[in-house]
Amino acid sequence: MNDIWGQAQESLAAHIGKHNLTTWIAPLTFQGTEGHCANFAAPTRFISDWVRRHYAEQIQAALNAAGLEVRQLAFTVSPQQPPRADAPADDAPAKTSPAASRRAAPVDDISAPLDSRFTFDNFVVGKPNELAHAAARRVAEGGPVTFNPLFLYGGVGLGKTHLMHAIAAEMRARQPEARVLYLSAEQFMYRFVQALRDRAIMDFKEMFRTVSVLMVDDVQFIAGKNSTQEEFFHTFNALVDQGKQIVLSADRAPGEIKEMEERVKSRLQCGLVVDLHPTDYELRLGILQNKTDLLRAQYPGLQIATGVLEFLAHRITSNVRVLEGALQRLFAFASLVGREIDMDLTHDCLIDILRSSDKKLSIEDIQRRVAEHYNIKLADMVGPRRTRTVARPRQIAMYLAKQLTTRSLPEIGRRFGGRDHTTIMHGVRKIEELAADDHGLAEDIRLLRRALEN
Ligand code: ADP
Ligand code: MG
Repeated sequence: MNDIWGQAQESLAAHIGKHNLTTWIAPLTFQGTEGHCANFAAPTRFISDWVRRHYAEQIQAALNAAGLEVRQLAFTVSPQQPPRADAPADDAPAKTSPAASRRAAPVDDISAPLDSRFTFDNFVVGKPNELAHAAARRVAEGGPVTFNPLFLYGGVGLGKTHLMHAIAAEMRARQPEARVLYLSAEQFMYRFVQALRDRAIMDFKEMFRTVSVLMVDDVQFIAGKNSTQEEFFHTFNALVDQGKQIVLSADRAPGEIKEMEERVKSRLQCGLVVDLHPTDYELRLGILQNKTDLLRAQYPGLQIATGVLEFLAHRITSNVRVLEGALQRLFAFASLVGREIDMDLTHDCLIDILRSSDKKLSIEDIQRRVAEHYNIKLADMVGPRRTRTVARPRQIAMYLAKQLTTRSLPEIGRRFGGRDHTTIMHGVRKIEELAADDHGLAEDIRLLRRALEN
């Protein structure tokens, strides 16, 4: 049985990627089959739910390919098995040492204040942030530490700080005795430098080592700051060894943070790394609706015409902060002039924001960027060569052109050296198919997309 499961995991790795395998599949224990049902034990409900929703089909297919006729999967949760030896279950982060309780005050002193608007209730969930939100919720519930650290990353204004604050607030509400320390990496560094100057480094160490939960926002900031990075690494290790939960955020994945030491990176990667994807239209609209409800309370009696929110969700795609700022400005302006928020007022009031989001991405920008990424000549993007090393990047550029611009297939075809629209369609489909299975390719596309959208 174990052989079969081993074999199945190997083929799963090829489909869902090593990282997902380690995070979601490796913690499962395969317990054999009953009839056509394969039984698994998962260390937490969160993991079993996630696997059931996202990987059931692939697991079934992998088991079938390994020779087991399975038509159904069943999961039980058995928390007795901590998924990692270095992260012992710790449902009582409140058990503080005498030294810790003596020092309760300093933690509260140095924790950055939480923005009371950044709660889970105010966080709108959509496809792009679904996993990050679920993981954040899971951590905020407390209970056994199942992934350590939780590493949230994503572009500017996509909700990292919001989620961090929501976790901290929820944990403090659920466990008032727990010592939840939230601060930015900048503040961490500032404290550290201050402690060095005041020769209070032992106090610094002790203070950080006696928290229940450590949350550091924007850790990319300490990359390259060597002594701070070193101290952070030691603090981090000490807390992980004690089974304390750590939550970190950064603007990019651990592996992509330059000037971060390898051992720090690999330590960061051994928890759960999740990214907040760029928003999609539905999420932006949801966020606008949520924010409108809040603003209505602030500006009673203001009317907003139908179609305005949809228009904004469509046009302002850069980041949520800009989107919220636009709405805020609309309300303030409309209340000042005593008018309804309609399309005219929207255009007048937001002309600068709308103009800057009007900068259209050209197909040539996409071709250039993709050519650079794969180290091929720009001319090959439009030329006739059909070798794989050239043809694949070209198809990726076609795919991105379809995704990121409003051009039609024939228009895209013309800009790819006069190719037929069916060639473009074929290229787009090909990349969609490949990216579904090929983790590396999917990651390349994600990076290119992010670079192009900024
Ligand atoms: P980041 O830290 O990733 O740069 P923030 O967490 O500061 O971004 O978010 C920027 C703004 O956008 C905040 O006002 C935040 O409340 C809001 N925001 C981002 N994502 C969401 C979301 N999914 N639902 C509601 N508000 C959001
Ligand atoms: Mg932030």
